[in-house]
Amino acid sequence: MKNNTTRFYKIDLADHPSGYELSELIKEFLRPSEYQVLNGRSDSKKQKEIPVPESSEMVEISLAGKELDRDQAKQWLFRELCRETGYRPEWGTLTGVRPVKMANELMDLKGHTPEEVRGILQDYYYLNEEKADLVMETSAVQRFVTAQPAGRTFGLYIGIPFCPTRCIYCAFTSNQQPYAEVQRYLQALLREIDAVGKRCRELEIRPETVYFGGGTPTTLRAPELDLLLSAVETAFDMSSVREYCVEAGRPDTITRDRLEVLQRHGVGRISINPQSMNDGTLERIGRTHRSEDIRKAFRIASPYRDMIINSDIIAGLPDENYDMFLQTLREVIDLGPQNITVHTLAVKRSSRLHEMDAEYHYAERETGRMVYDARRILARHGYRPYYMYRQKHMAGNFENVSYAKPGTESIYNIRIMDEHQTIIALGAGGISKAYYGPSNRLERVPNVSNYSIYIERIDEMIERKNQKLYRPFAPEAGETGNC
Ligand code: SF4
Repeated sequence: MKNNTTRFYKIDLADHPSGYELSELIKEFLRPSEYQVLNGRSDSKKQKEIPVPESSEMVEISLAGKELDRDQAKQWLFRELCRETGYRPEWGTLTGVRPVKMANELMDLKGHTPEEVRGILQDYYYLNEEKADLVMETSAVQRFVTAQPAGRTFGLYIGIPFCPTRCIYCAFTSNQQPYAEVQRYLQALLREIDAVGKRCRELEIRPETVYFGGGTPTTLRAPELDLLLSAVETAFDMSSVREYCVEAGRPDTITRDRLEVLQRHGVGRISINPQSMNDGTLERIGRTHRSEDIRKAFRIASPYRDMIINSDIIAGLPDENYDMFLQTLREVIDLGPQNITVHTLAVKRSSRLHEMDAEYHYAERETGRMVYDARRILARHGYRPYYMYRQKHMAGNFENVSYAKPGTESIYNIRIMDEHQTIIALGAGGISKAYYGPSNRLERVPNVSNYSIYIERIDEMIERKNQKLYRPFAPEAGETGNC
């Protein structure tokens, strides 16, 4: 992002009905201290408190008097801001988190060819060639891999909201508690599994994928992990499961006895997430493991040859430059996971990093070069992008991309971004989504995120699902197919 310390922008959105999206677009160009939005509806209150620096040159941009729909207004504002700031965001006017879903829908719902969609991304949404190419390549892999979900299936998510320590960028429901608390949580979770499983059997609906996430599910010791997986397999009809994944994540929780349990239950995917192979960085970001623990975790996992391993790494970590990031990437490739996910650091408000530096993600870093070259290096090693999403507050406004060796892509990850299947999410922080096929819409049914409140209110969580979640599958809903 160009540093405009001597300019201040007054941007009049003229009460445009798409004021929120226009405000999001402005954030791609300017820091909060560099501009004020007038008549922007959603942001106007916050923006009025911004003091205008005395020596600034004032730049005024106004939508007043222009009859523009949402996309036209975004295009116009994008061009104005490009001209005034000299900066052109690579994702063009797109501010949403799911660009691949949008491309897929242009083909599926509007009948465009891939070539036409590429043209639309570049000429209408102003993506640069690199990002349009990434979207189209990811979309092509997804369409080849997954096809549409079978009727009366869903994705099952089970959350374990505990981790050994808290990473400084963490914005999830991750708790560091004595093991007795983990066990107390497990009792409530087992009740939810049992109740939801029973309801799913009554409705004759089955999971297509099962995904244990968190937190760090392998915070559970082997006996409790065994108990949990057994409970899931008893409660649900597992006959349609195509993918069974446990996100291990923290290398310091990967032990032989846990992997034995996972293998016995037929788990086919785990993750071992280094984030960085630089010991100084690992310490800075609040992880208790070191790079040697990551190598050791791969050695422990090596006899379990049937398990697909995903490894997450992050571009834009504090005090990491381009060379350090590439060193991490190369070392991780050498360790041989079938999937590598390249995240761009996102600094959410609830993270410790945001407390330390609220404008972290605006600083000029080499993140663009990191993610650009990562894609090329991974392609040379046979990895293809298959799943991608964007987040707010990312270093340099880039994206998270998962790369996979052909045939090892995660169906759950693709489905969750594609949003054409019901997700049933159990545990604290789980957000279930009921998918109504004919109207192509989702309805969220969230659990509370605080694990202690979840335990107290477990009956209410179960009842909430009974009331709202299963409607697409009820015979009277008249909704069949990909619910
Ligand atoms: S491993 Fe993930 S969930 Fe756990 S503290 Fe770190 S970022 Fe949060």
